[in-house]
Amino acid sequence: MFTRQAKTRNRRNEMKRREFLTGTAAVGLAAACAPTAAKADGGSAMPKLTPPNPPAQLNLCLQWGMIPGNGFNAKLDYLESHGYNCVELPADAKWDCAGFNKAMEGRKLTVATLCGPSDLSKADPQARQAEVDRLKSIIDVAGAVKSVGLIICPARGKPELPFKELRQDFVENTGRQMAEHAYKLGTSIVLEPLRRNETPFMRQVADAAAIARDMGKGCTVMGDFWHMALEETSFMGAFISAGKLLTHVHIASLKNRKIPGSDGDADNYIDGFKGLKLIGYRGAVSLEGGVPKGGNKEELLDNMVKLLREQWEQA
Ligand code: MG
Repeated sequence: MFTRQAKTRNRRNEMKRREFLTGTAAVGLAAACAPTAAKADGGSAMPKLTPPNPPAQLNLCLQWGMIPGNGFNAKLDYLESHGYNCVELPADAKWDCAGFNKAMEGRKLTVATLCGPSDLSKADPQARQAEVDRLKSIIDVAGAVKSVGLIICPARGKPELPFKELRQDFVENTGRQMAEHAYKLGTSIVLEPLRRNETPFMRQVADAAAIARDMGKGCTVMGDFWHMALEETSFMGAFISAGKLLTHVHIASLKNRKIPGSDGDADNYIDGFKGLKLIGYRGAVSLEGGVPKGGNKEELLDNMVKLLREQWEQA
């Protein structure tokens, strides 16, 4: 049998729990602390967030296939004359590095990532090694064109290896071989978390960052706003969790994965840009998305540049 005191205590605890779950307790606490916090500004126990120096910079970027024009010079000229700072290339082991590097001479553009498919989740160790060797030859290209790195998604669809084994094999074997190879060439592998319908393995930026931290040199991470919109609770929090490991960002409209701006008010990246500013991010923000049916690509691209610059200022 409960005593009367025990019943009263239970009732109070239940009220506290409900307040906590509805957030009313936190609001009450914040209101109560507000004058003290204001007075104690500078000496407060709460961290003061100071944007890093040098400050973050918005470097807009397009993937090779999206750039209007044909041939190295036409495409690179387009980027320079339309407000872009970087270029993202296909993951092609046969890329004409000499021709491309010649076309890049004297330009302000830098090479962001190389983007293509990868899968290191096969149960057969020989199949995994064959994939490592194939990807290493693309990492050679990444080094030759002075790219930030080759984008890697360790597993797609249904991984044949169990999760624990897959993570360990990636950190200690397949991923590490590629990261060490990349590091020697002055580039990296860039881990990309995907949506749950594409992979059950690595879906959040923080998860990728933890894998990169475990792997060490030559391994970095990226965030793709499209995947993040489904998988993250906060764009800003996700980017902050990557910190200095973040070397690339993909962006698209947030309802249909087209050119940003195509989905109207849904295309709000301000919270994510705040996160990028807080970590002093100076890598590329690169469009990975399609052209909406019947849309004028060049007009939509120009609108995107304007929209993203405005939202960067607002962040
Ligand atoms: Mg992507």
